Amino acid sequence: MATPTAPDGSAQLPPVTNIQMVDLKAQYVAMQDEVDQAVLDVIRSGAFINGPAVKTFQANLEAYLGAERVIPCANGTDALQIALMALGLEPGDEVIVPAFTYVASAEVIALLRLSPVMVDADPRTFNVRAEDIEAAITPRTKAIIPVHLFGQSCDMEPIMALASKHGLHVVEDNAQAIGATYTFSDGRQARTGTIGDIGCTSFYPSKNLGAYGDGGAINTNDKVLGDKLHKVANHGQSVRYYHDIVGCNSRLDSIQAAVLNCKLARLDGYSDRRRAAADYYDAHLQGIDGLLTPARQPNSTHVFHQYTLRVDGGRRDALQEHLKAAGVPSMIYYPVALYDQQAFAGTAANEVNFLPNTDLLCKEVISLPMHSEFEEATLAYIVEQVRNFFA
Ligand SMILES: *Cc1c(COP(=O)(O)O)cnc(C)c1O
Repeated sequence: MATPTAPDGSAQLPPVTNIQMVDLKAQYVAMQDEVDQAVLDVIRSGAFINGPAVKTFQANLEAYLGAERVIPCANGTDALQIALMALGLEPGDEVIVPAFTYVASAEVIALLRLSPVMVDADPRTFNVRAEDIEAAITPRTKAIIPVHLFGQSCDMEPIMALASKHGLHVVEDNAQAIGATYTFSDGRQARTGTIGDIGCTSFYPSKNLGAYGDGGAINTNDKVLGDKLHKVANHGQSVRYYHDIVGCNSRLDSIQAAVLNCKLARLDGYSDRRRAAADYYDAHLQGIDGLLTPARQPNSTHVFHQYTLRVDGGRRDALQEHLKAAGVPSMIYYPVALYDQQAFAGTAANEVNFLPNTDLLCKEVISLPMHSEFEEATLAYIVEQVRNFFA
C-alpha cells in the first residue's frame, strides 16, 4: 500500500487509534499496585466514613497547598456552596462570577438565593480581570468568585486589592487549577486556592487531581472560618447531635481519599507532563492563520486542565467535525454563556445578556485531548490532523 500523503505532499503519519480526551486508564496502570492496596486497606478496615485515609489526605493536602485548614467534602459544587454558606450572606447579596465558566460556579449563588453578577473574560487567558470585576461592584456586592479557568491563576493581586478596598470576600474556584502557583509582584508565591478567603476544588475523575468517583475540598487560612466551614459541611454541628446552624452533609469517602493520597504524591509530575503536552501543541500549532493557541498568564504557572484553542471565521465546528472523522476527540468548553442559560433567566443582578468576549469565546473555543499519559506519536498525530484542516 502506498504511504498516504498530507496536502503538502509529505508522508502522513500512520493513524493513531483510540485517542482519549483524558486517559485515566493509563494513569491507573502506572500505579496499579499501590492504588489497589490502598483501596483494599480501606475495605478491609471497614472505616468507610471519615476513616484514617481521609485524615491523612486532609493533612497531605494542607501541606501541599500550604493551607492552614482543608475540609474535604463530597464534590466541587458542594465546596462552593459550603463556602458561600459559611460567609453568612443574606438573600439578594450580590456575588461576582465569570459568565464564561462551568455552571457550578454560578449555580450555587442562585441556589442560595444570592444574586450572581456575571462579568466578562480576557479573550486570551479566558480568566476574569480586575477591571471588569471593579466595574460590576455595587453597594450590594459581598463576594467575588474568581475561577482559575483551564489551569492558570486569575491575576489575583489586583483582585485581592479590590476586595480589600471594598470589603468583599473572595472565594477562589480552584476546581481546574490545583497545583498552579501564582507569583505576587514582591516575589511571594502561593498555590492557587490559598490567596482568597476560601479555596474550593473538585476531585471529579477528569480533574487534574481526580478521584475514582466524586470528591471535593475547601481550604482556608482563617481558623474561625475553618471551624465554620467544617460545621456547615457537617450538619451544622461541632458537637455530635447539637446543631447550631442549618448545614448540609458533604463528605469525602475513605476509598476516594485513599486513591487521592496516591495521586497527590504524583500531582506535580502530572502537571509537568500536561505542560509538556501543551508545549508540544504550542510549538506545532504556531503561525496557522485563523488559529490562536492559549496565552499564558505571566504571573502564574499553568497546569493545563484544558488546552483550549480559538478558531476564527466561524470554522470551529467544522474543525471539530474534521478531527472527529480522523479519530481525534475534542470538546467545547463552554458553548453557552451563563447569562444565556435558561436556569439563570432573570437571576443575574446586573441583567447582562451579552458580554463581547464571552460571546466570542463560546463561538471560537475548542479543547484538544489533554492528560498526563501521552505518547509523542499521539500528539504528533493530533497536531497533524489540526494542521491538515487549515492547509
Ligand atoms: C468541575 C468544576 C466544578 C464542580 O466540581 P464537581 O466536583 O463536578 O461538583 C466547579 N467549578 C469548576 C470551574 C469546575 O470545572
